[in-house]
Amino acid sequence: MKAVRLLPIALSFLLLTGCAWEAAAPAQAEEAHTVELLAMDTIMRITVYGPDGQKAADQAADRILELEDLLSTTDTGSEIYGVNHSGGAPAALSGDTVRLLDQALTLCESTGGALDVTIYPVVRAWGFTTGACQVPGGDELAGLLEQVDYREVALEGSVLTLPRGAEIDLGAVAKGYTGDQVAALLLDAGVTSALLELGGNIQTVGAKPDGTPWRVAVQAPEGGYAGVLEVEDKAVVTSGGYERYFEQDGEIYWHIIDPATGYPAQSGLTSVTIISDRGVEGDGLSTALFVMGAEKAASYWRENGGFDFVLIDEEGGVTITEGIEDSFSLYGEWTDHDLTVLRP
Ligand code: AMP
Ligand code: MG
Repeated sequence: MKAVRLLPIALSFLLLTGCAWEAAAPAQAEEAHTVELLAMDTIMRITVYGPDGQKAADQAADRILELEDLLSTTDTGSEIYGVNHSGGAPAALSGDTVRLLDQALTLCESTGGALDVTIYPVVRAWGFTTGACQVPGGDELAGLLEQVDYREVALEGSVLTLPRGAEIDLGAVAKGYTGDQVAALLLDAGVTSALLELGGNIQTVGAKPDGTPWRVAVQAPEGGYAGVLEVEDKAVVTSGGYERYFEQDGEIYWHIIDPATGYPAQSGLTSVTIISDRGVEGDGLSTALFVMGAEKAASYWRENGGFDFVLIDEEGGVTITEGIEDSFSLYGEWTDHDLTVLRP
């Protein structure tokens, strides 16, 4: 089962460092070990540097598949599927699901419900879970929205009780949590340099093997790169309307839903990238701040802090927070775009 989901790409190659000053320094070439896999609806790539990297990368892939088996909304054997079909009965959860749900509920609360883990009935009505996408009727959405309220989720210890008819979707935070778990596993295994590419989520362990920061691109909505960030030991998580969408009668509908309306969030933003220590926070906030829009996102940052962001708006304007002023730069054609730096 797992082998099927592991893509047959277990590369092992030498990373060649080649800057001028490095030529004078002792050789720092480190072996790179890469595993690619299909999980959580996306292609993931784990690259671990150093002598025992292959074993650690394989363990990381196993951990990702283990989490996918727990957290999938559509896999009938998953813990989330079981909870969503519990008919209102209390359900015992595993440690991972408890920890993730607990962190997610905290973010639902702090974002005033812009992130809402009970959004699943609405997401399903739009067809984003199956790929059979359609615009639901207004009455249908209004009915489904009555089931959406994270405050009705009762998590006591490891026991979860959902109101009858309510269903949860951890899709907005699962990859972030997975990044945190994999980064911790690699650090425990003694890894000092690794790059986790989990779809739109990037998580970095340490710096590059040569000691310089990782360079992570921020995608432009129409393709290509809008900017580049230099980071070490950070999660860089993007939510964008362009990541998953469909078109009907000339209108574009994307997968990030405003829980206040049941419709795709139209906040004037085309993407939100969060730079944070923890992937789960970055993932939850990238989705939530996309729903909020630029103004509320700025207020949220000023009130809560502890992370940075790159917002791209529909006019192509870019807004960043002060903490990444020196580590972010616009790229290529985007160097002409307006760049605003927010201060506390
Ligand atoms: P992300 O790509 O991290 O922004 O997460 C988007 C996914 O989270 C969607 O595919 C849905 O499954 C789910 N989702 C959409 N809107 C919301 C929301 N407002 N709160 C929580 N989950 C959401
Ligand atoms: Mg997210």
